[in-house]
Amino acid sequence: MSKYFENIISFIRSIYNVEKDFIPLHEPRFRGNEKKYLNDCIDSTFVSSVGKYVDLFEKNIAEYTKAKYAVAAVNGTAALHIALLLAGVETDDEVITQPLTFVATTNAISYTGAKPVFIDVEKSTLGMSPVALEEWLKQNTIIKEGKTINKKTSRRIAAIVPMHTFGHPCRIDEIVEIADKYGIPVVEDAAESLGSRYKGKHTGTFGKLGILSFNGNKIITTGGGGMIVTDDEKLAKLAKHITTTAKKPHPYEYYHDMTGYNYRLTNLAAALGVAQMEQLDNFLESKRKLAEEYKSFFSNFDDVEFFTEPENSISNYWLNVLIFKDKKARDEFLEYSNANTIMTRPAWVLMNKLPMYKDCETGSLGNAEWLADRIVNIPSSVI
Ligand SMILES: *Cc1c(COP(=O)(O)O)cnc(C)c1O
Repeated sequence: MSKYFENIISFIRSIYNVEKDFIPLHEPRFRGNEKKYLNDCIDSTFVSSVGKYVDLFEKNIAEYTKAKYAVAAVNGTAALHIALLLAGVETDDEVITQPLTFVATTNAISYTGAKPVFIDVEKSTLGMSPVALEEWLKQNTIIKEGKTINKKTSRRIAAIVPMHTFGHPCRIDEIVEIADKYGIPVVEDAAESLGSRYKGKHTGTFGKLGILSFNGNKIITTGGGGMIVTDDEKLAKLAKHITTTAKKPHPYEYYHDMTGYNYRLTNLAAALGVAQMEQLDNFLESKRKLAEEYKSFFSNFDDVEFFTEPENSISNYWLNVLIFKDKKARDEFLEYSNANTIMTRPAWVLMNKLPMYKDCETGSLGNAEWLADRIVNIPSSVI
């Protein structure tokens, strides 16, 4: 065990002012109007899928992200599932994404009946590489009747789903530019990046559609929840319709004009969301301060690097990232920190290594593999 592990652990303990107890990776903070708004829901009896907080939460997110429309959903995975359907993804299509992501991204692609294709990430952003994307499209696809077709599988490439990893924006403008050239819609998985901007524009608002998550571990939480954001009015209306059982409005008749989903967010959850949104700027400020402290602390270490926001980006620093010099050091640190009741985690096992996705098409994944061996997330809760 390296001596410097001990220094890291005592630094994290000093930051959180916790001498011996467990320090989680990311726990929520409820310091605002959460209880007041929840009580208001209960008093009003509007706890379920209708109520003012759902509308208000959608309005808050639209205003904050400057997306024209925001449609709430039961969780981020469901939001992504619907966003992909609205982008036109169908059974037996292919959808390009990155292998370094949470399984929800890939599962949502699967729910549509499409097959994921994995394209490498960049070491500088941890997100999809525009260079690798363009290279793969150039070598592996042809454009036939306006559709981009994978030459090997004859399947249509129906969408591209980049993800802003741990809150750090990827080079989304270049990805959208390439996608436009090939006529492929971009659906942004911004589940982790509420509050993160690229060239001044909020993540999730570059593509045709984007999604956010409000799971318990995200920067704000509704217990469980998600949001679809888009500038397209027709898609926004359809998103609301499909996520609410596709019922035609009528004073008493139950008529549904397509197979819809019960993917709506409850008023209770949205009440939490409205209270959390009131604190988002404070959360972001606290997380930025924490990242600054980590950055200055780790600048003294040769064998481990603290990952900082990429060029042209403002990151929400959702989960702070260390990059160790090799897998051995990384594994030793995971062992040591968790044994000392400080919660740390490696990056996700790459999607192409999971049994259900191991036979999917991939580009060369050198950077993703390099990063997956070296990344550790360290405690990142708002102080
Ligand atoms: C959290 C997350 C989601 C959505 O997760 P839910 O728990 O369904 O809200 C999707 N993609 C990524 C990358 C995530 O981190």
